[in-house]
Amino acid sequence: MRYVSTRGQTEPMAFKDAVITGMAPDGGLLIPETLPELGGRLDEFRGLSFVRFAEKLMAYFVDDIPEGTLNGLVERAYATFDHPEVVPFRALRGLAGNHDVQVMELFHGPTLAFKDVALQFLGQLFEYILEERDEHLNILGATSGDTGSAAIAGVRGLPSVDVFIMFPEGRVSPLQERQMTTIPDENVHCLAVEGSFDDCQSLMKSLFADADAKRTLALGAVNSVNWARVLAQIVYYGYGSLKFARSEPVTFCVPTGNFGNVFAGYLAKKMGFPIDKLVIATNDNDILARFFQTGEYRRGTVHHTTSPAMDIQVASNFERYLYYYFDEDAVRLRTFMEEFAATGAASVGGPPQTDDFLATSVSEAEVRRTIRDVYEHNGYVVDPHTAVGLAAAERFRVPGVQICAATAHPAKFPESVNEAIGRKVARHPTLDALADLPTRKTRIPATTEAVRAFLDKHAR
Ligand SMILES: *Cc1c(COP(=O)(O)O)cnc(C)c1O
Repeated sequence: MRYVSTRGQTEPMAFKDAVITGMAPDGGLLIPETLPELGGRLDEFRGLSFVRFAEKLMAYFVDDIPEGTLNGLVERAYATFDHPEVVPFRALRGLAGNHDVQVMELFHGPTLAFKDVALQFLGQLFEYILEERDEHLNILGATSGDTGSAAIAGVRGLPSVDVFIMFPEGRVSPLQERQMTTIPDENVHCLAVEGSFDDCQSLMKSLFADADAKRTLALGAVNSVNWARVLAQIVYYGYGSLKFARSEPVTFCVPTGNFGNVFAGYLAKKMGFPIDKLVIATNDNDILARFFQTGEYRRGTVHHTTSPAMDIQVASNFERYLYYYFDEDAVRLRTFMEEFAATGAASVGGPPQTDDFLATSVSEAEVRRTIRDVYEHNGYVVDPHTAVGLAAAERFRVPGVQICAATAHPAKFPESVNEAIGRKVARHPTLDALADLPTRKTRIPATTEAVRAFLDKHAR
């Protein structure tokens, strides 16, 4: 299987190169040259454990790693999860206009958020490929709090990788900071930048734009557009659909920010898994919901909500979907993206012609109400991101089973959850244990020179 760019101006490349490259050199995103058609072979997948399912599915996309080796990487990636099923399900009763919803718990990885599903696998892939090539990578990232710990957990302790995560000093929650700074592995470097998250992002940009720094420091990123992340996410859509589809296919409801998670569901559907609709659930940052209602993709201003991992205005994975929407026409896609980059808006000329998606945005008041209602009626505690999904699920009546992705454990967002329920119910032993661990971080001024000097000293 080879990978091509959505912008059509990159030579096709093998899987391992796609993983290491991340973003296509022409500015586009990498996608498989053809999608495997699995509709006629679903029996091969039925009844498999999550890990076996993942191994079997990934083999269709990875032809440059021997099967036994790939299986080893998958097994190691998911051995870090704290539930024997890796991704378990939980039924909620009487939720959506009295129909039942299955919650797909994606938060059993080491940092208790769904990004672990992809980043634990990506870390294993990086180590395997770099070791084979006798190379070392210094990963540089910036976080406002949510995603840094999952990136760190994905690569901690790996010999071929160092990871440098910048975050704004004093502006991430104490819990999120401890999730990063308590990791003792020597290849993990937490940089508390004396500035804002925007400063951290500008520092990232200037270092990556500096060809000398990028080369001499062998800089890399684990951004949300890496193809391997999408691939790891396709697995649970296929797995969940076969578990719950009966005569009717299932519908997935997905709390969405960068469109990475729900896009994987779209590919699972395209490949032939029994999936009816994909419900795009956004918070007040509703650029995607507006697109699916009007056909216009228009940048707005970021609203800060209780589901911060979805507080985005531009969905970095959306380009992959548009590519398929434009029938794989890279020229049309390029025109659309260039117009969007230049003017902050572009349109497909009316509501999109698609049966695949439903989209809606959920207010903060509804998030609170949903957290409280789910707790009252089911004794189950959900985090604000998952609550966005469940509130959206209530709005649509669909014939088959509705499955809602739970993207974070509620204990990651204790203030909002406890406040909505009125009791201290959001706890997790892993997070409680962080309070007693030693922490490590380096304070650093928000200048390119300071960060460059730190990298020169510590990068390997
Ligand atoms: C990243 C994240 C999301 C959004 O996922 P996308 O792939 O960006 O749509 C939702 N919930 C949580 C908890 C996340 O960390």
